[in-house]
Amino acid sequence: MKIKVVKAKRSRIGTVDFDNLGFGDYFSDHMLSMEYAKGTWSPPVIMPYGKFPVYPSLCSLHYAQIIFEGMKAFRGAGGIVLFRPRKYLERLNRSAARLCIPQVDIDELLDWLVQLVKLDQKWVPKKEGTSLYIRPFIFGSGNFLGVRSSDTFRLLIITSPVGAFYKVGFNPVKLCTPGGYIRAAVGGLGAAKTPANYAASLLPAEEAKKKGFQQVLWLDAKENRYIEESGAMNVMFVIGDEIVTAPLGGTILPGVTRETVIELARSWGLKVSERPYTIDEVIAASKAGMLKEAFGTGTAAVISPIGEIAHNGASITLNGGKTGPLSQRLFDEITAIQYGKKPDRFGWVMKL
Ligand SMILES: *Cc1c(COP(=O)(O)O)cnc(C)c1O
Repeated sequence: MKIKVVKAKRSRIGTVDFDNLGFGDYFSDHMLSMEYAKGTWSPPVIMPYGKFPVYPSLCSLHYAQIIFEGMKAFRGAGGIVLFRPRKYLERLNRSAARLCIPQVDIDELLDWLVQLVKLDQKWVPKKEGTSLYIRPFIFGSGNFLGVRSSDTFRLLIITSPVGAFYKVGFNPVKLCTPGGYIRAAVGGLGAAKTPANYAASLLPAEEAKKKGFQQVLWLDAKENRYIEESGAMNVMFVIGDEIVTAPLGGTILPGVTRETVIELARSWGLKVSERPYTIDEVIAASKAGMLKEAFGTGTAAVISPIGEIAHNGASITLNGGKTGPLSQRLFDEITAIQYGKKPDRFGWVMKL
């Protein structure tokens, strides 16, 4: 399929403060767009980033038939690279299946995504720790009220230069369990990257913030004991010499960073267990002096050390509230591979 490119008349790159990028505040000159109707995706168009008109009856505004992805391009020693891009697009297709959204051809879409990033390559920031965040998303584009799947869809890819998540080293986050709210139940949307999961998380997150915590630590929906994940991160705990993380049972998002960390840690000879574990086990391990450290994993921050966890009026501090050695080692290793400073022995990096 041939790709049509409509270039922006003038670049907006001069308006970007590359020293203070933040996260998700600036958008590159171009976006990719394609539409699905009558059973097929139309050829994509790369066009200037900008507004597009929709009707108030746009079905996905009413019934949330929407999925998205989030991956990154890095400017490293050997040029611009994407990190495990196929993993993200495979997940896009799995989310699509759960939300009755048509599958995309991953090879073709990756090809076009590369063309988009190449066209806007000036937007891939240069400073250590910065990157170009890539956000593909698909939404039902039919115009109707009524709970049923749309039969037309639109896929867009927008990109955003983003800053280093940590300006000065790591800042361990404080988490609390959400006191009765749940994120996803077995059979629900938990494993799909879909805005509905985030909508459900807004109120618990607001309440956590009011109490001085950055994020919620989700427990399972049924028994309210098993640790699941946090905000937009999977979580891992180091108990004794075991790294413990929740299994992929359909209620948590199968993170690419989660998978990366598991593969890396195992390659270092560390023991990683994907098994159910409860908040009580973590608190007991803390009391017994067995809880070494904990961290979140996600594309945005890579590794996010956890300094404190509050649950039912009790509170535990991890590694003295400081970044643990494994968190640091994982962060250093993954970012070194992403920026081409260490050999890519797993084949995770794709050169543009
Ligand atoms: C995106 C996301 C993650 C992290 O996944 P990565 O692929 O590592 O970025 C974790 N949890 C949720 C709910 C997410 O949406």
